[in-house]
Amino acid sequence: MIEALGVPHTEVELILVNGVSSDFSRQIEDGDRVEVYPRFEAVDVTPLLRVRDTPLGEMRFVADAHLGGLAHMLRMLGFDTLYDNHFQDDEIAAIAGEEGRIVLTRDRELLKRRAVTCGCYVHALKSEAQLREVAERFDLARSARPFTLCLHCNAPLRPVDKASVLDRLPLRVRENYERFSTCDVCGRVYWEGSHWRNMRRVLEGVECHGAAK
Ligand SMILES: [Zn+2]
Repeated sequence: MIEALGVPHTEVELILVNGVSSDFSRQIEDGDRVEVYPRFEAVDVTPLLRVRDTPLGEMRFVADAHLGGLAHMLRMLGFDTLYDNHFQDDEIAAIAGEEGRIVLTRDRELLKRRAVTCGCYVHALKSEAQLREVAERFDLARSARPFTLCLHCNAPLRPVDKASVLDRLPLRVRENYERFSTCDVCGRVYWEGSHWRNMRRVLEGVECHGAAK
């Protein structure tokens, strides 16, 4: 009934029926008063029953085809995020169900699917604002491991000696950087360049915002 009114189950944190906390299986009767709450930011509701046991474990995501920028930024922060701009809704729902991934999307209908137990409706349109939104909702600043994943393959990066990648580096990079890592899937080499600094700035913004609450 809640979904029929347009609210995906992934966006619901607490349901009260006649003032008593309930889950989605509760049958509604005539005259029942139903209150539906989103995720609480400032109010501690732990004594009440939440609709889902929270331990999400290691946070892993699958992003819909429109959220490529956000997916890259999450990878940059070290969060395993599947993304492919050919992903269909069916595939995303199946991956989420099979691999226990959190679905990131701006499509409410996708979040209403049964296979999707954890998801996040992303309100913002720009990827930096989207990252802040997702980081706050899942408290990502705490568990971020920046620059441990390949932005293209989502595979782990491995630190390498400068000497072993020297022939693959532009001259400017050879002169200015000392720390490098590589992706064993695509062979790309990463170094602490301007991309890196921009991401640190974004991440610091997320952390400051979180701390100010
Ligand atoms: Zn790669």
